Amino acid sequence: MKELLFNNNYTCVAVSKTKPTTDIKKIYNLGHKDFGENKVQELEIKYKNLPKDINWHMIGHLQTNKVKKIVPFITLIHSVDSIKLLKVINKESKKINKITNCLIQVNISNEDSKYGFNFEELNSLDIEFLKNFENIKIKGLMGMASYSSNEKNIQKEFNLLNRQYINLKKLMESFDTLSMGMSNDYKLALKEGSNMIRVGSKIFGERNYH
Ligand SMILES: *Cc1c(COP(=O)(O)O)cnc(C)c1O
Repeated sequence: MKELLFNNNYTCVAVSKTKPTTDIKKIYNLGHKDFGENKVQELEIKYKNLPKDINWHMIGHLQTNKVKKIVPFITLIHSVDSIKLLKVINKESKKINKITNCLIQVNISNEDSKYGFNFEELNSLDIEFLKNFENIKIKGLMGMASYSSNEKNIQKEFNLLNRQYINLKKLMESFDTLSMGMSNDYKLALKEGSNMIRVGSKIFGERNYH
């Protein structure tokens, strides 16, 4: 567990969605500071009830009308999936004089159920336009591999995302983060250049959805 959490080569975001604050506190007490949630309401409650030096990561789909609730305290929004969302994050950040760190979510598996820009959309983004958001720092890309047990496929998807990341990094000085890899595929993701993994069940145990 400690090997997974503390590592010089990558940041491990402990994904605590659906888990109680007591579970988070246990991992926090080991000295771990990065936690991820996918719902705004749950994130707000946990932020209020846990130590203020936790780095909170938003990893789930974010509705524009909820942006203002998390901007004051969020460390990194991994799930920017539209230009409209970027505009709202910029506007709300400006209001409180903050610069918000964001990743662009890429739909690497081409599953319709997944949010994010596909490769074509990603490549047609106007870089100068992206750089012009005064209150946003775009730090990199986030992606999720197909829900599949075909390791070759998963690795290929991660490899493609890493190539996009490397290409964009040449144009975006602010790029330093490639968020890819979850409990079942983080080892493949790290092989393919990830430097931020988002691990839930491997740390907290399986989730029960009621
Ligand atoms: C839930 C979730 C994770 C963690 O999933 P595990 O399989 O439990 O590690 C990572 N990333 C995102 C976007 C998630 O929603």
